[in-house]
Amino acid sequence: MNPPVLYIVVPCYNEEAVLPVTSGMFREKLRQLTAAGKIAEESRVLFVNDGSKDRTWEIIQDLNRQDEHFQGIAQSRNRGHQNAVLAGLMEAMDRCDITISIDCDGQDDLNAMDAMVDAYLDGCEIVYGVRAKRDTDSAFKRATAQGFYRFLNFMGAEVVYNHADYRLMSARALREFAKFKEVNLYLRGMVPLVGFKSTCVYYDRHERLAGKSHYPLRKMLGLAFDGVTSLSVKPIRMITTIGLVISVLSFLGIIWALITAFTGRSVAGWASTACIVCFMGGIQAMFLGVIGEYIGKIYMETKARPRYIIAERTEGMAEKDAQ
Ligand code: UDP
Ligand code: MG
Repeated sequence: MNPPVLYIVVPCYNEEAVLPVTSGMFREKLRQLTAAGKIAEESRVLFVNDGSKDRTWEIIQDLNRQDEHFQGIAQSRNRGHQNAVLAGLMEAMDRCDITISIDCDGQDDLNAMDAMVDAYLDGCEIVYGVRAKRDTDSAFKRATAQGFYRFLNFMGAEVVYNHADYRLMSARALREFAKFKEVNLYLRGMVPLVGFKSTCVYYDRHERLAGKSHYPLRKMLGLAFDGVTSLSVKPIRMITTIGLVISVLSFLGIIWALITAFTGRSVAGWASTACIVCFMGGIQAMFLGVIGEYIGKIYMETKARPRYIIAERTEGMAEKDAQ
């Protein structure tokens, strides 16, 4: 059997500081894997420029001119990490046997790729890179990340613990994944739904080599919320349950109020009434918000806008245009 063709898919947004360093690391990894006979010589590193405002795309084009093992596609504008990864995977799908998606900041240990490819050669179609420990993240990032996974799982979104978007997917798994047409993307929650034989590879996470994180707390919370509402209707069910409980309590309250009224023991209860009204108002507004979030998602899904638009490709990726 010929060794498989590997495409390493790397989303890049304003990464001019790290790209010159990490591109060499990716290239070296390809070399090692090829030398070990695990992957074919036609393997590539595919950068996806996600509408960067700095020199990222120029750097990618330079790399491609120097070495055809570097390829790139550029999105027409910034669409976010998840869409960038998807664009790269879909572009790579028909050109390779396996893809590995990884961030471009050097935080994820490239050496885990050996074990990932081995697992593929053993028959796995999807291999999740899982962070063994998070020593290098700040205590704050660590705590929010742990909370994030717990919250997701509690809310019914099935995700692999401590797995981000560092994973191997075979072309076969990707072809099935391509049939998931949703525009609200949450890849790490969607990929497990594809099924097939899969496994985890554990690695240590490093510091970002340069530049700064694009995921502050605000975006983390946004991602968690999106993850839940894209993958699960459990929050709506919880609301229904809470609504039922509140209805029963209110019913008991009404009976109690009637009894006190009929027995002539009613008192001037303005304060308690006002409290209940405010409380109910708050609960209802919150519940409507959650339901509104789902309606917003349905709205975006019915529009079925393209999930990514590719503006430019490097030479080796260009033939797809002609097809
Ligand atoms: N990224 C992207 N588009 C964005 C934000 C980030 O393609 O709008 C890329 C970024 O270049 C990096 C990866 O997504 O390769 C992860 O981003 P980052 O390292 O900032 O996130 P963190 O590791 O801190 O969660
Ligand atoms: Mg990072």
